Amino acid sequence: MAVGAALRVLYVTPELAPWVKTGGLGEVAQGLPPALAAAGAQVRLLVPAYPALRAAFPQARVLAEVPAPGGALPPARLLEAPGAPPLWLLDCPPLFERAGNPYQTPQRNDWPDNHLRYGLLSRVAALLAGDASPLDWRPDVVHCNDWQSGLTPAYLAHAPGARAATVMTIHNLAYQGLFPRGALEPLALPAPAFVPDGLEFYGQLSFLKAGLRYADLVTTVSPGYAREIQTSELGFGLDGLLRARAADLVGILNGIDTELWDPARDPLIAQRYDADGLERKAPNKAALQRAFGLPETAGAPLLGMTGRLVPQKGADLVLATADDLVRAGAQLTVLGTGEREIESGLVALAARHPRHVAVRIAFDEPLAHLIEAGADMFLMPSRFEPCGLNQLYSMRYGTPPVVRRTGGLADSVSERTGFLFDEPTPQALRAVLVRALEAWRKPGAWRTLQQNGMRRDYGWGASARAYLEAYRRAAAALRART
Ligand code: ADP
Repeated sequence: MAVGAALRVLYVTPELAPWVKTGGLGEVAQGLPPALAAAGAQVRLLVPAYPALRAAFPQARVLAEVPAPGGALPPARLLEAPGAPPLWLLDCPPLFERAGNPYQTPQRNDWPDNHLRYGLLSRVAALLAGDASPLDWRPDVVHCNDWQSGLTPAYLAHAPGARAATVMTIHNLAYQGLFPRGALEPLALPAPAFVPDGLEFYGQLSFLKAGLRYADLVTTVSPGYAREIQTSELGFGLDGLLRARAADLVGILNGIDTELWDPARDPLIAQRYDADGLERKAPNKAALQRAFGLPETAGAPLLGMTGRLVPQKGADLVLATADDLVRAGAQLTVLGTGEREIESGLVALAARHPRHVAVRIAFDEPLAHLIEAGADMFLMPSRFEPCGLNQLYSMRYGTPPVVRRTGGLADSVSERTGFLFDEPTPQALRAVLVRALEAWRKPGAWRTLQQNGMRRDYGWGASARAYLEAYRRAAAALRART
């Protein structure tokens, strides 16, 4: 890397909002790269050319042909779409031109060739970051995100020649990209690397472990989660490796898109407002009650919840405490999709309490905004939470969050801006809800709580500066090794 020159970063991601998003990672990939560029880096994004992206960028031009990179990986093309920063689409119709979400069929089964799909993404990222790249633009750092690009550091570590430094970010350790040993050959991975100190995870090939093992630096999306994943409780079997790499493991809290999520400018809510005009928040509550078919009672505290309906998010705790909420006169709106059992449990709960609980099983962006604006408080009782975005949105919208003290929730919410509880039990959630409902009945103190949250800075600037520092560390670690 030339002294004084802009750091060149290849940012590899399987999701990119607003076009392709299943969770927080899609939004990070949308928000962080422009902030890195604003902080002085030269950034390129690499993302599979899913149909939504092909449709969004019909004018994308061919940047390079990528011959079949070995094993059973098919040839592909790199397309460049204009953007700030520029977008490189990995075009391989047999692998990426499919309906449904990126990882699953419309029937919600994992695509059977996900190892090839994300093996190709990883392999091409490694190609662009190494000596044999077909392009003149060479990155100083390749930034991989989650298991879908986890093989990149492994490919680079096993290839001869100069290479970029590698940074691997964990957005959620629960998703590891595990495949049978037989995937090794189609992915053109070296068989000797299939050992516990390499790519193997209890007899299987682990994409994520490959990234954690071979990256020059590992980051995750909050300092708290960086500590927690080194414990057997939240390490998902990788805590030993993460402890061994503790000196190379950094936690950096996510920012949010402060233009998209701004109650003063949000076109998706019923009435815009800010910290100095909180009375203008009220029409949003009525609109939210109406949207969910609940009685439009201003005097009933309204709790909102949005997110993937999976055990991680603590929906079982909500099911176990909902009757108490109803008894206390509160209302609850839930928006989400996820595991069928949790979905049907929530639907049944709403059927039992039609005047108090309403559930929408859908992915609905406008409704997610209305929930942030219209609810009195936001419920996020996650069992673990790498960073979490919704609690940040809710603080910015003057909707104090009720969260479990874990991971990024503990790092971003305090008793000045919301409510925290410790044990993942219905009793503990019940107790904090009693506290929150009491606080809501004291308008003066409540307004202070709302304003504390609304006046904080949630932008990407601070995170981008921390990532630039992480990139420099990774580059230094690579230099020290070679
Ligand atoms: P995770 O990444 O674990 O799913 P986050 O809170 O970090 O959780 O980010 C989830 C993002 O996806 C948030 O922006 C959230 O509003 C959005 N989201 C999740 N489920 C839905 C849904 N059903 N409808 C609209 N937006 C959703």
